[in-house]
Amino acid sequence: MIISRSKEFKDILKTVQQRNIFIIGCGKCAAKQHLGGEPEVLEMKKKLGISGKNVVGCTVLSSACNIASWDDVLTQNPDIKKAEAFLVMSCGGGVSIISSVADKAVYPALDTESLGGVCGDTIVLEQCGMCDDCDIWLFGGLCPVGQCPKSMRNGPCGGSLDGKCEVDERKCVWDEIHTKLKSLGRLEGLKDIHPPKDHSKRRGRK
Ligand code: SF4
Ligand code: SF4
Repeated sequence: MIISRSKEFKDILKTVQQRNIFIIGCGKCAAKQHLGGEPEVLEMKKKLGISGKNVVGCTVLSSACNIASWDDVLTQNPDIKKAEAFLVMSCGGGVSIISSVADKAVYPALDTESLGGVCGDTIVLEQCGMCDDCDIWLFGGLCPVGQCPKSMRNGPCGGSLDGKCEVDERKCVWDEIHTKLKSLGRLEGLKDIHPPKDHSKRRGRK
């Protein structure tokens, strides 16, 4: 799941110059985080209206980054014709997809933060750094690229103390990697030196 957070409303207002706005929410990641589902879209509509914008309509797509047919979206939402711009309440993936098919200006209402997940009601951040060269099994299935703020592949850094990260309140992922590898009987793997990622392999480079 893509983890996002809401932009400050005043920043959205500064960015969106047009008056006639159509709001698009996302029924997947953004809705799950209560950032772009129906309640948030209706709240945004209300706030924009109070701020002098004319919200010509709104919808929540099942997934803003996975649109089977833009023509169907237009047919189901005829008010889009009246809009000068879209405000999209999804991650950057959804904003990009809509920008690629829409013939009007498209603005994001969210800031995209990381690739995370949900377990029960708990949202977990920064699980994967999307490096395009996954070797997470070397670390017992816990990714230091995504979860360590320094992306230490040969960790921990000197600041790890009592299982805590020195950067912020998070647990040190290297402490968790140690615990996991121990439980798997693979502690010897900690002696391996992992070379830097070959970023030239990233999609589009080679
Ligand atoms: S190694 Fe980490 S950052 Fe790279 S793809 Fe795997 S989980 Fe994501
Ligand atoms: S304390 Fe652990 S998680 Fe924090 S920066 Fe150092 S290695 Fe990374």
